Amino acid sequence: MGQTLAESLLSLLGDADRVITRPQAVERLSKDFYWYSPVLRQLLDGKTADVVAQPVSVAEVRKILALCHAQDVPVTVRGAGTGNYGQAVPLQGGVVLDLARMDKIEAIQPDGVAVCQPGVRLGVLETEARKVGWELRCYPSTVAKASVGGFIAGGSGGIGSVTHGGLRDFETVRALEVATMEAEPRVVLHEGGAVHEILHAWGTNGVITRLWFALAPAVEWAQCVAAFQSFDAAFSFSELIATHEEWKKRLVTTFEWPIPSFFSPIKQIVPQNKSLVFFLIAADQLSLLQAAVQDAGGEITLAAAHQGMRTSPLLSDYTWNHTTLWAMKADEAYTYLQCGFDPVRARHQFAQLKVRFGGEFLLHIEFIKNSAGIVAPGAIPVVRFTTEERLNEMIDYCRAIGVSVANPHVNHVEGGGRYRADNVQLLAKYRYDPKGLLNPGKMQTFEKNDVLTGAEKA
Ligand SMILES: Cc1cc2nc3c(=O)[nH]c(=O)nc-3n(C[C@H](O)[C@H](O)[C@H](O)COP(=O)(O)OP(=O)(O)OC[C@H]3O[C@@H](n4cnc5c(N)ncnc54)[C@H](O)[C@@H]3O)c2cc1C
Repeated sequence: MGQTLAESLLSLLGDADRVITRPQAVERLSKDFYWYSPVLRQLLDGKTADVVAQPVSVAEVRKILALCHAQDVPVTVRGAGTGNYGQAVPLQGGVVLDLARMDKIEAIQPDGVAVCQPGVRLGVLETEARKVGWELRCYPSTVAKASVGGFIAGGSGGIGSVTHGGLRDFETVRALEVATMEAEPRVVLHEGGAVHEILHAWGTNGVITRLWFALAPAVEWAQCVAAFQSFDAAFSFSELIATHEEWKKRLVTTFEWPIPSFFSPIKQIVPQNKSLVFFLIAADQLSLLQAAVQDAGGEITLAAAHQGMRTSPLLSDYTWNHTTLWAMKADEAYTYLQCGFDPVRARHQFAQLKVRFGGEFLLHIEFIKNSAGIVAPGAIPVVRFTTEERLNEMIDYCRAIGVSVANPHVNHVEGGGRYRADNVQLLAKYRYDPKGLLNPGKMQTFEKNDVLTGAEKA
C-alpha cells in the first residue's frame, strides 16, 4: 500500500511535530481573518487543508513542493494567517505550507536593508531594527503577529505609509527569492522592478523564501489624540499635518463619531460625540502639535511617549483594520470597505456619501503617500451590512463619484484592486506554477486561461 500524503511529508521532514494532521489544528491553520466579511464567510466557512507542513529551510520547502507537484496536490502558503480576504484559506484541500518556523533575520545591513526569512514577525523585525538605528517603513496594525512574507504577499501598507508609502512604492521591497512549483523546484531571485511579479500575488505564483526589505532611520515617536467638534474640523486638521512635510509622522488617522465609541478599552480618551484624530508624531514635535491642535479649536485627550509595541494604550491597535474589529465587537452587523479619495475633492466626496448612506457609511480615514509622492486620504470606512446587493450599491456609488475601492469582499487576487494590469503576476504563474497548484482558485485570470496567448505565456 502506498504512503498517505502525511506519511510522505513525514518521511521528508523527519519530525512529527512539523507534520500536522489533528483536525482542529489543521482547521485553525487553514483560516485567516476572512470572517470580517459576511460575504466571504459564506464562501469560505468549512474550507480546510488535509495536512499542514512546517518547513524550517529552503531545502525542505523545495522537497515539499516537489512531492506535491508529483502528486498534483494543491499547496497554500501561510505566514501568520492574519489576512482579511481568505488569501490563506485552501479552497481545494491539500497542504498548508506554514512558514512560521522560517523566522531568521539574517542581517540588518548598514544601508538599512533587512535580509530575512519570510516567517519573521514584523514586530520582531521592528524591535531588532531599532536596536541598530532603523525601523520598519510601514507595517499593518497586526504587526505583533503578521509575518514579513505574508505582508509582502498579501498586504498593502499601514502605519508609516503616510510618510513612506505602501509596500509597492519607493523600492521598499528590494529583492526576494521565490521557490517554484515544478518537478524540480528552483529558487529564483527577483530584484528591482521584478519584485512586482510576486508582490501581492497571494502565494499563487511562488513561495517567497528570502527577502530584502528596506527600512527607515529610527525616530523617537510620541502618541497624541485630538478631539474636534465636527468631522470636518478633524479632517481639516489631520490633512494639514499629513500633507505638510515638516511634520514627522508615522500615523494620522481620522474617525467620524460614533466610531471612537467602539473603542471600549480607551474610553477615558474618547469624549462623547467628537471626531478624533490619532497621531504618531516625532517626540520632539509633540508640544508643537499640541499647540497646533489648540489653535485649531481641538482638545488633546492623550499626549505621551511611544515606547514600542508594549506601549499602553497602543493607539495603532485602533487604526487601520483594527478599527473594523472594534466596530464588529460593538455590533456584528458592521463590516468595511477600502477606499481611496481624491485629495482635491475629498470633502465633496465625503458629503456625497453621507447624503446617500448616512450612518450606514462611517468615515475612517488613513492618509497614505502614493507613488507620485502625494499624501492622499485613503479610507477603511466602517459600513453596516444588510445585504450583498446593498454593499455592492455602496461600492458602485463610490466608484461613480470617483472614490476608488479595493473590494475586501472577494477572494481572488484581481478583485482586491492590487492586481497589475500588465499581467506580470499572471506571467510569473505560468512560468513558476504551470499546473496551477499554488493556492488554486485565487488567480482568476489564470483559471480562465484566456487572458494571454500561448506566445505571451511562454
Ligand atoms: C485587525 C487586522 C488589521 C489589519 N491591518 C492591516 C494593515 O494595516 N495593512 C495591511 O496591509 N493589512 C492589514 N491586515 C491584513 C494582514 O494582517 C496583513 O496583510 C498581514 O501582513 C498578513 O501577514 P500574514 O503573515 O498574516 O499573512 P497570511 O495571512 O498568512 O498570508 C497572506 C497571503 O500571503 C501568502 N503568503 C504568506 N507567506 C507567503 C510566502 N512566504 N510566499 C508566498 N506567499 C505567501 C498567503 O498564501 C496569503 O495568500 C489586517 C488584518 C487584520 C485582521
